[in-house]
Order: sequence, then structure tokens, then C-alpha cells
Amino acid sequence: PELSFDSYRDTPRLKKHRRALRLAILTREPGNYSTGRFIEAAEARGHTLEVIDTSRCYMNIRAVGGEVHYDGRRLPHYDAVIPRIGASITNYGTAVVRQFESMGTYSLAGSEGIAMSRDKLYAHQVLARHRIGMPTTAFARSPKDSGNLIQLVGGAPLVLKLLESTQGKGVVLAETKKAAESVISAFRGLKADFLVQSFVKEAAGEDIRCLVVGGKVVAAMRRRGAPDDFRSNLHQGGTAEPVRITRTERDTAVRAARAMKLDLAGVDLLRGEDGPKVLEVNSSPGLEGIEKVSHKDIAALVLQHIEAKVAPRSPRSKRK
Ligand code: ADP
Repeated sequence: PELSFDSYRDTPRLKKHRRALRLAILTREPGNYSTGRFIEAAEARGHTLEVIDTSRCYMNIRAVGGEVHYDGRRLPHYDAVIPRIGASITNYGTAVVRQFESMGTYSLAGSEGIAMSRDKLYAHQVLARHRIGMPTTAFARSPKDSGNLIQLVGGAPLVLKLLESTQGKGVVLAETKKAAESVISAFRGLKADFLVQSFVKEAAGEDIRCLVVGGKVVAAMRRRGAPDDFRSNLHQGGTAEPVRITRTERDTAVRAARAMKLDLAGVDLLRGEDGPKVLEVNSSPGLEGIEKVSHKDIAALVLQHIEAKVAPRSPRSKRK
């Protein structure tokens, strides 16, 4: 439906001397906005893009000449794949991506990066190792001493997050130590892993989504939650608008994407009083919100990055 981008500025044109590419998008949602936009951008730039349902891929694994099969046929060699691996099939999806990688195909999101960014514990450890700002965070499963755990992140108010949470569903703000303790005891009953995080009050219910493509922030938007909700997720009824980000925020987003080894990433950060605090790095960021808010042709920018990655200009055409 709403896939017309004629009115959009900043649509990069395909450089004449680049060759047409054979591409695939790995997704279980062939009809969604982002898939449609990638198809549109690839076609506009003269490439072919096949839509492959990740869960229908099967593979033979061997040292030389690994293959990916699909509905009874062997898939051809692709120059690049665009993985859009949903949270419900992270494991299988990363295995498919890994197979393409071992066959020499460039993946916009590396299998390692997808796995890392999906695992909240792992992701926080990687961000910390790269000294990227984030809210003070502790994690636990069944702590006997919840008081000590609460102290670790500086006491209430604090935010508790179920590890499986997406779209802000398992995220709770505990305003008092008592409230925090009762949430922790509920989580303990579920035997679920969870994060305890200092509450970044200054963020005032807003977060910033930075879209990073090939090591550059190409667009950013500020998201605000529904009134009275500290969560800014659009799924929870929020709104978004364009925002100018600071140099530090830009650097932080770029470093976070790099730490996660993702060439396309949605980096969510909070504006803390002592600098940006990264909440999450998303390996399949949706294009709809960010394109509508920024009026940029993000899909084309992604394709442009893929072209530079897999079909660099030949020295001859550079001389011209
Ligand atoms: P999910 O992955 O389920 O979306 P997030 O960690 O992104 O969970 O949290 C959802 C929202 O809650 C964020 O977009 C942000 O607005 C708010 N939030 C999360 N953590 C904090 C925090 N430590 N301080 C303040 N607000 C937070």
C-alpha cells in the first residue's frame, strides 16, 4: 500500500558503473512495510531481490560447497542477504545466516551480531566491555538476597526487565524498594532471567532511536510513550518525531552498532544527565517509523551500503 517514495528527498542514485546484484531478504513477513521497501529500493537500483522465508530454508553442512535449499530447489549464490530474523526464530535464523556467510555471501547483519544483540545479557556485557554508556545494570535469576541486588544498582526507583521482553511488555518501573522486592519475588517464581537497572528519570519517558547504516547514523527520531507511561515504545501507544542528536550521541550509536557487529542497526538510547545511555541494539530495525519521521529513503541508503560492500567500484571506473 503506502510504498510510494517519489516525494522523498535524499534518494541516492545507483552509480552507473556498479553491477546489478543478486540479493535475498530472509523474512517470515513478505508483506510488511520494511520488506516492501527493500524490494522497491533494490528494483529501483537495478538489482534482483528474492524474498525467502527463513523457516523454510534447509541446509547441508559440509566443508566445501555448503548449500541452502528451499522448497525443493537449491538456492543460487547471492551477493548479499538482508536478514530480518524475528525473535521467535533467532536460533534457526542465525544458523541460516551462518550458512550463507560460510558460502561467501555478505550478510547485512552478521549471524554473530544477530545472536549477540538478541541476548540481552550478552548484549549488555558486550556494550560494557566496549565502554559504551548504559544505565547501571545487574542481572539475576533467583536471587536469595533481593535487597543486595537492589543496592547494586543504587536502590529504588529502578527498572526491572524480563529477559524475553520485547516491545516493552516485560518492563516494569518500581518506584520503591518494597515494590522492587515484590516484582523480584514474582520473577523468581517464574524462574526467568531478568535485568535490574537504575531508572534514568531525566529521560522523562522519551528515548532516541538512531538508525545506523554502515557505521553512520543516517536518521534519528525521538519517541515518547503514552502519557503517564515511562516506556517510550511505539507499540505501547507512543509517538515519534525527528530529533537532532549530539555528536556524543552519534558516536555512542555508531560504537554500539560496531560493538554488535551490525551494518544495519537500530540503537535505542536514553538522554541521561551524564550522557547517552544505550538500552538496546536492534538487528532488524523497522523502516516504517524512521522513514516516515525522517522523510529519508532509508531502504535506498541500505542498498547503497550493500553495493559498496559487495561490488566496489573497479579501479578503472574510479579513474574516470
Ligand atoms: P523492550 O526491549 O521490551 O522494548 P526496553 O529495554 O527497550 O525494553 O524498555 C522499554 C522502554 O522503557 C524504553 O524504550 C524506555 O523508554 C523505557 N526504559 C527502559 N529502561 C529504562 C531505564 N533504565 N530508565 C528509564 N526508562 C527506561
